[in-house]
Amino acid sequence: MMETTVIPTATQPTERAAVSTDVTPHDAHTLGDVLAQVSTEWADPQTELIEHAYALAEAGHRGQTRKSGEPYISHPIEVAYLVAEIGLDPNAVAAALCHDLIEDCGVELSTVSDALGAEVAMLVDGLTKVDRLKFSSTEAARAATLRKLLVAVAKDVRVLIIKLADRLHNMRTLAPLDPPKARRIAEETLEVYVPLAHRLGMSQVQTELEDLAFAVCYPDRYAEIDRQLAASAPARDSELAIVVDMLTAALDEAEVPVDHVASRAKGHWSIYSKMIEQHKSFETITDLLGVRVIVNSVQDCYGALGVIHGLWAPVAGRLKDYVATPTYSLYQALHTTVIGPGGRPVEIQLRTVEMNERAERGIAAHWGYKGAGRRRNNEKEPAWLARVLDWDKESSGPEEFMSGLRAELDADEEVVVFTPRGDLVALPAGSGPLDFAYSIHTEVGHSCVGAKVNGRIVPLAHRLVSGDTVEVMTSRSGSSGPKEAWLRMAVTAKARGRIRQALAAKRRGTDVESGRGLLRRALRGTGLESKADDFTLMSNVAQTLGYQGSEALFTALGTRHLKAQVVVARLRYYLSPSTADQDTRPSSDPPGTKTLSALEGRGRKFLANDPQIIVEGMNGMLVRLANCCSPMPGQPIVGFVTSGRGVSVHTTDCQSLARLSGDRQVEVSWWDNAGLSQTEILIEALDRPGLLVDVVRALSSVGLDIAGSNTTVGDDRVARQRYSVICSGTEQLDVGLDAASQVPGVFSATRPTATGSTK
Ligand code: MN
Repeated sequence: MMETTVIPTATQPTERAAVSTDVTPHDAHTLGDVLAQVSTEWADPQTELIEHAYALAEAGHRGQTRKSGEPYISHPIEVAYLVAEIGLDPNAVAAALCHDLIEDCGVELSTVSDALGAEVAMLVDGLTKVDRLKFSSTEAARAATLRKLLVAVAKDVRVLIIKLADRLHNMRTLAPLDPPKARRIAEETLEVYVPLAHRLGMSQVQTELEDLAFAVCYPDRYAEIDRQLAASAPARDSELAIVVDMLTAALDEAEVPVDHVASRAKGHWSIYSKMIEQHKSFETITDLLGVRVIVNSVQDCYGALGVIHGLWAPVAGRLKDYVATPTYSLYQALHTTVIGPGGRPVEIQLRTVEMNERAERGIAAHWGYKGAGRRRNNEKEPAWLARVLDWDKESSGPEEFMSGLRAELDADEEVVVFTPRGDLVALPAGSGPLDFAYSIHTEVGHSCVGAKVNGRIVPLAHRLVSGDTVEVMTSRSGSSGPKEAWLRMAVTAKARGRIRQALAAKRRGTDVESGRGLLRRALRGTGLESKADDFTLMSNVAQTLGYQGSEALFTALGTRHLKAQVVVARLRYYLSPSTADQDTRPSSDPPGTKTLSALEGRGRKFLANDPQIIVEGMNGMLVRLANCCSPMPGQPIVGFVTSGRGVSVHTTDCQSLARLSGDRQVEVSWWDNAGLSQTEILIEALDRPGLLVDVVRALSSVGLDIAGSNTTVGDDRVARQRYSVICSGTEQLDVGLDAASQVPGVFSATRPTATGSTK
């Protein structure tokens, strides 16, 4: 971080004064600066193209200002400058200048294409958000935009590099935005763009994005770490100086040629995540003392390692050789931890000049410099991106896309394994045989019963490591197929999605059958038994009871959310002579007619404007609000049992009461608060940042109101969350539990006690 400066920033962490929250304004760059920067890396800087792009952008954004009051054009210029600094080519710089043109200025893509060429237009298109108006919600539009971006990235990774530069400049200039908006952008940065920068190996951009977002999302924690860093800086600095001196002398004596030795600082966010992940306090984050040795050849890396281990005792198990086996972002280095002269652990990284360049600039190091061109056509997109786009083809909605993307981005590393035929399959770290099987084909996954790894049979819970050869064993017997337990073993979004779908389909099938059986049994002896199989009739009955179709009705019966007697009563009413003509016209149902399923014990969810009425001592009664007086909720009411038409409800001052005095009168009342009740939900999950937000979002997405929550995190990193929710019944609650259990990390979502009537 200290030794090479690719992206100069006011907030760049240094050893003594780490990122400061009061972002000092950056020196504004000009078009001239951009051009100068491009010509430092490119023999042909295509000045005309860039000037042309600038003219287009300047005209488009003229009159627009940023929140800070600056002319809007300052933003595309800074983004273009960043892109040029990262080392991208003139086309990418031109695209950076025009990246907001289509979205914010109503300029047509064809205009960009005509003026600047198809390549620039393609990059700009990938950077343009989808039209919000074409989507049902902001969330859906956001997911579609990200998806569009990633599809473009699969074709040309420069799109993502420009997008990261755009986000970086926006993060640097968040201050004028109102806090909720700034926070939302910062959260998205941590959730999506930081892991994407990490995927591309762009560690400098990643670190700066992390710390800028950290300061906005968690200002108190940020300030605390800042304070501790500053307090410990003097002692740390002098110790590091001693380490660097001793190291330089020892390498010199051993005649290992060294490019340079430098101490390095960790970002605030990176310290904080380590504290969380490793359950350590600030003081015990061991690699706070970090030194980097940059040498000229791979051989010298290992030579220097020998010298270091001769000088100080290495800590067992801390030597990592990423030279022989690079991580997926092509990061290469040797890492070792030794007990330094002060008795404290010191982490030392060894890299060649080239590895160091790649470690800081990541994928961007492929551009610029020694004239290396952009990605060749035959080069495949990175495996993680292929995975996201692959399962997304089959995924059904924006939420699934976002949760799958989040899961993929959460995985920190990946493993590369082989099929028996020697084909490479890359999977997120922690993957097992099921992930492997589903990555090949959904059917292979569904029929998977076990696997052989390197010729030996392993359990499905086995974790694969890089280099394994994996052979899936399949079976089509009745007992095979997806099981609940599989969800605890599979980690990839694709496998989990397929398993969940299969389980849901199985469950639905069973519930429908048992629901139909229950209805048949209830109809026994009435002569109506066969009606349970009358599809049209049952669909109509279902609709008048507020269900989407007969399948939903049978499911409600099968899951005991609805009593068979209610359906029987409704069916009889439906078939009664006076209403026989309504058989196929459910919409002609008398207005205001409702069954009292609310009395069935909270089974169903009601619209707020549905009048709910309780009939004393009667269950499953059909209720009709009389047309003569049209009672309104809250008015005093009285009910009369009518022949074949259930209970008709009148206001107590209705004119027609006298006429009805012969009928049997019953006591009726309005159902208070539409049957809402408060209940508790217990969630258990592996703790991670954003967990609470995601669970709350999942619960609210099904309309549950959260009255309170309480989270404890144990030493096992398991978060135990208790939510008080207001819900309309067990059905809604079950949907909520389902939604919560799909949040990444959640492994259990339950009610504290079974509440009687339901499963
Ligand atoms: Mn922008």
